Amino acid sequence: MNTKTENYQIEVSGYSIDVIRKDIKHLYIGVHPPNGQIRVSVPLRLDDDAVRLAIISRLGWIKRKQEPYKSQVRQSQREYVSGESHFFAGRRYRLKVSEQNSPPKVQLLNNTRIGLTVRPGTDRDKRESVLYEWYREHLHAQLPPLITKWETKMQVPVNEVRIKKMKTQWGSCNIEARRIWLNLELAKKPKSCLVYVLVHEMTHLLERHHNDRFRELMDTFLPQWRTYRDQLNAAPLAHENWRY
Ligand SMILES: [Zn+2]
Repeated sequence: MNTKTENYQIEVSGYSIDVIRKDIKHLYIGVHPPNGQIRVSVPLRLDDDAVRLAIISRLGWIKRKQEPYKSQVRQSQREYVSGESHFFAGRRYRLKVSEQNSPPKVQLLNNTRIGLTVRPGTDRDKRESVLYEWYREHLHAQLPPLITKWETKMQVPVNEVRIKKMKTQWGSCNIEARRIWLNLELAKKPKSCLVYVLVHEMTHLLERHHNDRFRELMDTFLPQWRTYRDQLNAAPLAHENWRY
């Protein structure tokens, strides 16, 4: 069987569509979290015009599927001011912003408040980046023991785990380099979600495709993975401006 797959993007009716071309019989259209990205799996025998036609003929369905993601996007315009709610490690907190002539910092004040201290006159984007830097440190601190634990459990070595903001994926894996990328947004989610994404990406080091073997491996390593996946994809989503 030809297992070669090809990934690229095309524009249709103002949408940017992820196309995955592979050896399958039928065309599938999916609308995916976190921002309603459209992904089409296409049999090798069909060309891009066939993909365009399929998208256009299902635009009504696609728009309906995207609606919940859009309303979450609308809720998520954040200004990083006092009183606003922000998520951290699966819990909702209120932000308390104070201005002070000292290096910026973030700290958990108690079970309900995150304190963000910035210099007077700091603009929105800078306040956001200070908070995200704190999210990044939090993830970085959690990762080493997690990676060690799962490397031992799964008997699969990982070369590197890196963190970045991603628009359409919670994680990704470069199998050849044994390098895993995790979405910085995971800092807002419960730890179980971080574990789920890490184990999912590490499972790709054993099985490239999302096939039966992949699911069997996941069932073995992390039997509750479906629950964690649903938790991950449930609202609330990221508090940032997801772009299409
Ligand atoms: Zn995957």
